[in-house]
Amino acid sequence: MNYLIWDFDGTLGYRSGMWSGTLLDILESRMPGHGRTIDDIRPHLRSGFPWHNHHLINPPDRPADEWWGGCHALFTKAFLALGVPPAEAPRLAGLVRHAYTDVTRWRLYDDTLSILDALSALGWRHILLSNHVPELPLILHHLGLEPRFLSVFNSATTGCEKPHPSAFRGVLDVMEPGANVWMIGDSMVADIRGAEAAGIPAILVRGEDKGGVIAIVEGSRR
Ligand SMILES: [Mg+2]
Repeated sequence: MNYLIWDFDGTLGYRSGMWSGTLLDILESRMPGHGRTIDDIRPHLRSGFPWHNHHLINPPDRPADEWWGGCHALFTKAFLALGVPPAEAPRLAGLVRHAYTDVTRWRLYDDTLSILDALSALGWRHILLSNHVPELPLILHHLGLEPRFLSVFNSATTGCEKPHPSAFRGVLDVMEPGANVWMIGDSMVADIRGAEAAGIPAILVRGEDKGGVIAIVEGSRR
């Protein structure tokens, strides 16, 4: 059997502005005239998410409230650093979950569905492996991705963040021995190096090397 393990964010879909854009949206709506740009926000979100501590494994099936609670201090600190008054910062941090998971803000890349379907027709089965928030299934459903995937491995649910080898082993565990499997993603560290360390060949897309996904996979098929 042939399997493709896909990253989601930055590979198949995206939220405009990602996390920094989410905080900017909140500033725009709650503090008009704040004068900050997305570039001012980015440095404050470069650490503190679960995937930045990928060496730690969390318990599986953590309640979503607990997951978001773990990020509250990070968002509060970011808003404080951006000049939001101390009395207001925790309140704005509490708005991030709703804003980030607003499914109408999520998009697929133009070629995502056609590539997935073309590869399905060639006999590849799709599995998703993402470092993401607990609401990922709602986002996938909204984007029409859900029916195209055999299974979804979300770090918020499994407790394992890429590139930790356990994240990849969990996926391999559901496949029959000797399966033909490739990882496809946009992150050299989380997707490519992580997969290769777990013995899975990997293809970098949309990042430094923007190769055509279908051409590469067909050419590499054993
Ligand atoms: Mg990605």
